[in-house]
Amino acid sequence: MNVRDSEHMIAELNKKEPYELTEKIDDADLIIINTCSVREKPVSKLFSEIGMFKKYKKNGAKIGVTGCTASHLGKDIIKRAPVVDFVLGARNVSKITQVLDKKHAVEIATDYDESTYMFGDYRSNSLKAMINISIGCDKQCSFCIVPVTRGEEISIPSNLIIQEIQKAVDAGAKEVTLLGQNVNNYGRRFSTQVDGAQNFTELLRAVSEVEGLERIRFTSPHPLHMDDEFLQEFANNPKVCKQIHVPLQSGSTRLLKEMKRGYPKEWFLNRCQKIKELVPEATISTDIIVGFPGESDEDFADTMDVLEKVRFDALFSFKYSPRPHTAAATFENQVDNETASKRLQTLQARHREIQNENMQAKVGKVYKVLFEELKSEGRVAGRSDDGTLVMVKGSEELLGKIVDVKITFANITQLTGELA
Ligand code: SAH
Repeated sequence: MNVRDSEHMIAELNKKEPYELTEKIDDADLIIINTCSVREKPVSKLFSEIGMFKKYKKNGAKIGVTGCTASHLGKDIIKRAPVVDFVLGARNVSKITQVLDKKHAVEIATDYDESTYMFGDYRSNSLKAMINISIGCDKQCSFCIVPVTRGEEISIPSNLIIQEIQKAVDAGAKEVTLLGQNVNNYGRRFSTQVDGAQNFTELLRAVSEVEGLERIRFTSPHPLHMDDEFLQEFANNPKVCKQIHVPLQSGSTRLLKEMKRGYPKEWFLNRCQKIKELVPEATISTDIIVGFPGESDEDFADTMDVLEKVRFDALFSFKYSPRPHTAAATFENQVDNETASKRLQTLQARHREIQNENMQAKVGKVYKVLFEELKSEGRVAGRSDDGTLVMVKGSEELLGKIVDVKITFANITQLTGELA
């Protein structure tokens, strides 16, 4: 989502005057630090980065801090680092050209509605396009700062989504990734009267009718909203890639309740079972937090149990990080760092074994691969329908094509194959 916000900023700046991207700090006239705030680490990194940019930037170059940390720290960023010229919150991206020339401007309103704003065109990847389908988040997960920084959830009208996709496809895109904090809660609220798709299943159907579009991905769905109708559409729509992110957070029903996730362990397992039944070849990824306040050995054992039962293909795992403005930060029984680190290690070690077994099981099978990038030694890299990285020997005529590949070798992160 942040990467797409960055693209939007570049597009808006380019509406005003032509900017060129540079990797060289001392070349830049404008430096934008687009921040996350989901965990504490990126926040502390922000101030060391500002210091570094201050030291090496060209004389007169501006520094802007944008994104979620901008939303929740606001003018405190300028107080702490007066070298920063402007602060622009995650829900105010379209105002970038307004703050650019106002010294110490701060725009962070989280009730600002960008759900019908038509951003300019800029995409870093012409083959694969990110498409926002909603802004904000209405969930109240007790650990999470996102609703505070991105405001309430508003869906983007489907005619605007389709228009964006059509533009991307006309410019060469073969694949889109639909983006939102809870994509399958699409239609929860619109800020204008809309015809067109009213829920995520309807939106998937509408998107798949865009001519020339070959693949649809989406992130992130919420386990609570994985109704049968949505899973049937996921399974049966040939343009929908068979890769799904199902963020677990914890396997303990007791902790899930404390986290305010809205589902028990059994529901999560039932949904993953249903996915496997409908689409045995689908890959399932997840997010897990260890060391949430009050997490006991038994709670953690429940998380490990879900890991064994679902056998995730990819895992994003984190130590719980207390965040300002969240309920869980005030909970008693914060878990000590050593216990949390140990649990994280145990979880990741077992996941790596499972991931390796899952990858080995792909050898000998044939996958449809969209080739994207030339690599060294005459190889080309792409992604299979289920989201796995695949390498073959080949040259640039493969780029942008979807081709059958037979897998000959697997390691834990990538597959090697030959054109089938
Ligand atoms: N709405 C998205 C969440 C985005 S944040 C979703 O449901 O997938 C991405 C992940 O960061 C979350 O799924 C969670 O696992 C992790 N996360 C969020 N808050 C956290 C915190 N306070 N400490 C540690 N990890 C956290």
